[in-house]
Amino acid sequence: MPILREAPKEAEIVSHRLMLRAGMIRQEAAGIYAWLPLGLRVLNNITRIIREEQERAGSVELLMPTIQLADLWRESGRYDAYGKEMLRIRDRHDREMLYGPTNEEMVTEIFRSSVRSYKDLPKNLYHIQWKFRDEVRPRFGVMRSREFLMKDGYSFDLDAAGARVSYNRMVVAYLRTFARLGLKAIPMAADTGPIGGDLSHEFIILAKTGESEVFCHSDYLEFATPEATVNFDDAAELQGLVDRWTSLYAATEEKHDEAAFAAVPEDKRLSARGIEVGHIFYFGTKYSESMKAYVTGPDGKDVPVHMGSYGIGPSRLAAAIIEAGHDDAGIIWPDAVAPFKVGLVNLKPGDQATDAACDDIYAKLTSQGIDVLYDDTDDRAGAKFATMDLIGLPWRLVVGPKGLAAGTVELKRRDGGAAEAVSIDSALARLI
Ligand code: ATP
Ligand code: MG
Ligand code: MG
Ligand code: MG
Repeated sequence: MPILREAPKEAEIVSHRLMLRAGMIRQEAAGIYAWLPLGLRVLNNITRIIREEQERAGSVELLMPTIQLADLWRESGRYDAYGKEMLRIRDRHDREMLYGPTNEEMVTEIFRSSVRSYKDLPKNLYHIQWKFRDEVRPRFGVMRSREFLMKDGYSFDLDAAGARVSYNRMVVAYLRTFARLGLKAIPMAADTGPIGGDLSHEFIILAKTGESEVFCHSDYLEFATPEATVNFDDAAELQGLVDRWTSLYAATEEKHDEAAFAAVPEDKRLSARGIEVGHIFYFGTKYSESMKAYVTGPDGKDVPVHMGSYGIGPSRLAAAIIEAGHDDAGIIWPDAVAPFKVGLVNLKPGDQATDAACDDIYAKLTSQGIDVLYDDTDDRAGAKFATMDLIGLPWRLVVGPKGLAAGTVELKRRDGGAAEAVSIDSALARLI
């Protein structure tokens, strides 16, 4: 945990500054970052939640490689179309390869190699893998990096109606995912860009430092998240949820319609900056036709499958969560993604009673599956508190000789509330 006391000069936005100061990441080359232990714990918590919600929605995980063959991308026509964002590589046999910026081509190749009949549909496959895009202007740390982590999922259906159900499943899964990450993400009508197609939403977090200009109805911020009990096999239930979440105005700059926005009551009109944390597309048969991913339909005729793709940026999310949760002293993690739940501060390492109490508390918490970061360093108390505030763990538990003599330890929430002197037992009861 290489903590920096000073704000690094190169960091322009608060999340970047705090990630560097808290020792979460380290830049190894422009737009290329190492995830240090504390940062990796956050990243892993984010991907765990993404996985849980993907699985709940019926998507199945696989893992595709980072390096792909240029010839695969020639089949879809995107090898030439993609331009300079694609990192192109030659191996020792002079074969043209690339570091994948996305995986539509590869997943289509995998699909067509084994799925032949409509009876095997629908299919929804996802992976969580590093991507490379040679961004013109990598900046803001992992918010816009060149190498970044993406959860990308792909759906395959017999027809447009089926694809719509798959799309809706992902809308609902995404709403749940972002809410569990402690974020208010709004699905906004979006341009489909180089991926193509005609139905697309970006999931946007409102933030002053966001790179997108967005326009929406403010009531979205009060909408209730779909429950975990949603039946992902019930197309009507899914459509109802998606209808509600797309019932009010919400659009990114490219899709913005001044006239439609003017119809939103003035006090509800939100014109703001936003961070794109997810993006979903339905693109019909764009890849299945060019790459010949056909299945035999119920009438015995071969038809190209209807596809959609669904992306989330876990590494960008780590930064977006900090943009949404911090104060002057540092990060304020939502419980679900915090690298540790509890920061245990030993005020007098070497003092036998204090060490024993800390060891006992540490053992009891960890045996209950609670992640505890134990600070038994010789730093001054003030420095330890500053570090705990900086790294933003939900709970701080301070143990020192004076308190112990009075039978108490000090418990404090990072997201507000005063420090309370409580007995060890009641502190444990609050944390477990
Ligand atoms: P942007 O508009 O920010 O360039 P994009 O539209 O090019 O993003 P998509 O192709 O839609 O990105 O990728 C899906 C998700 O991957 C994005 O919503 C975002 O969360 C993440 N992502 C894309 N590019 C980056 C990047 N350079 N660094 C970090 N995350 C990224
Ligand atoms: Mg981009
Ligand atoms: Mg975009
Ligand atoms: Mg996008």
